[in-house]
Amino acid sequence: MRPRTALIRLGVDIGEFTDPAGAVERAGEAERLGYDYVLAASTEGGLDAWALLSWTTARTERIGLVAAGLDVAEIRPAVLARAAGSLDVLGKGRVTLELRPGPAAAEAVTVLRRMWDTSQRRVHHDGAFRLAGAEPGPLPAHDVRIWIGGDDPNAVKVAADAADGWRAGVPGQDSRQLARTMQLLAKALAEAGRDERELDRVVTLPDTVGAQDVETLASLVTEHGVTTFVLRIDERSPADALERFAREVAPRLNEAAQHAMTEGRFSPVPMRRAEVRAQRVPGIDYDGLPANLAATAVEPGDLLYPTTRSTYLRGGAPGLVLRPQTVDDVVDAVAFAHRHRHVPLGIRSGGHGISGRSTNDGGLVIDLGALNAIEVLDEDRRLVRIGPGARWRDVARALQPYGWALGSGDYGGVGVGGLATSGGIGYLSRKHGLTIDHLQAVDMVLADGSTVRASHAENPELFWAVRGAGAGFGIVTGFEFTVDEVSDVGWANRGFWGADPADFLLKLGQGAPRGP
Ligand SMILES: Cc1cc2nc3c(=O)[nH]c(=O)nc-3n(C[C@H](O)[C@H](O)[C@H](O)COP(=O)(O)OP(=O)(O)OC[C@H]3O[C@@H](n4cnc5c(N)ncnc54)[C@H](O)[C@@H]3O)c2cc1C
Repeated sequence: MRPRTALIRLGVDIGEFTDPAGAVERAGEAERLGYDYVLAASTEGGLDAWALLSWTTARTERIGLVAAGLDVAEIRPAVLARAAGSLDVLGKGRVTLELRPGPAAAEAVTVLRRMWDTSQRRVHHDGAFRLAGAEPGPLPAHDVRIWIGGDDPNAVKVAADAADGWRAGVPGQDSRQLARTMQLLAKALAEAGRDERELDRVVTLPDTVGAQDVETLASLVTEHGVTTFVLRIDERSPADALERFAREVAPRLNEAAQHAMTEGRFSPVPMRRAEVRAQRVPGIDYDGLPANLAATAVEPGDLLYPTTRSTYLRGGAPGLVLRPQTVDDVVDAVAFAHRHRHVPLGIRSGGHGISGRSTNDGGLVIDLGALNAIEVLDEDRRLVRIGPGARWRDVARALQPYGWALGSGDYGGVGVGGLATSGGIGYLSRKHGLTIDHLQAVDMVLADGSTVRASHAENPELFWAVRGAGAGFGIVTGFEFTVDEVSDVGWANRGFWGADPADFLLKLGQGAPRGP
């Protein structure tokens, strides 16, 4: 498995396989080895790339999926946008598109991006791909990047003008020829006024590549900023091709990338386009964000910003939303926030806070939505562990098969983090108490970046404070609760009619303590 800090991205091209099972098996192997992408283009008489990648999406969990060689003369961009957006949602943010450089490819890039921008109600577009009020969406789960594939000057120009990436067309081509094309690309980028780090630069390699090629490939990284190497394999490729490439070649390429990074020629995550960077808030060190946080952060101008900026109750315009995926990421996010004490900071779990402080204007938000796992730790003790980003409806669904429940509130969309640090009054409270009454332990990241556990036995004073005033003491990254056994639950609404409302309310108040 490659380290999480790897700079160079690796891909495997499975489009040449004739045996679909073999192709998907290799995609799974690539995922286990830490590769970043699986790539496929449709071949004549062969497997359709969308079908193959859809199947692969369902069989993998993390690896990126590149639908390559797409021809917008055959599939209209508005249709492609819908297909790609859907696959990205289903695969939880893993899709990249690669277009062929036809005459209207740059326009297709514009149409694709506009069709994913769900902050507008209708899309109107004049040109080769005319749209007269098309409904945009679905909103992809992440900023889908668009590459252009091909070596001719037109491909290079379209990539430099409009796209997020460029991929060399011919696998294993002569490195001097490749270097010449990349010089053209650098020139075209400069003419377009773009930073070269905005573009993924991708080279496809044959399965014969090995240790003997390391120096040549490393120079593509240091001299031309190549970000990604894709290994093309099929059923005749050596069984250990992927493993060997990751073990023998990739580490040296990573060193080369490290070197290029110190010279400001390589970015561990692609730099945003200039029009997005122009919307940055002064005083936030966007470029100083660690790569693990930068990969999922959302800032003004990003595709996901309209759905990330606000909460259920408050419109906001934060300068940067950090979306940690692990507890270590939360620690890094707190360290980053520590350097930004001059701007507001919001902590968000489910975004249903009444005060609205889980968003702000011009500051940082640490959004814990990805820490949403729900697991049973001890079935005999009914002990469960729940991440702050889980929603109470998901908790109810996860506990129901055991005949268990944890009283929270009356609204399934509320997040665990905000409610379980403050109280939790719901339908089960009269019989089973508040949500915080069920809390046994929490794991927290404190303001100084340390991680602590608090329970009745460990840090008991902190544990006391968390159960009601948790937001003031740190970020809870995991809650452990003992949950209740419940039998079948009935639900009824009672309506009262009273001629004298004051008298009725008085009597209701007096009778309530004796109620069930
Ligand atoms: C429609 C609706 C229905 C509701 N129904 C009920 C109900 O029936 N019963 C009930 O008890 N409450 C109810 N509430 C109130 C709700 O419990 C609180 O607003 C709660 O704070 C929301 O949690 P959240 O994670 O969704 O909110 P967020 O907005 O994400 O967080 C709210 C605040 O909690 C803090 N916080 C969030 N996550 C963490 C964390 N991991 N560690 C430390 N601090 C954190 C932050 O200070 C943040 O500003 C309801 C709210 C709404 C909007």
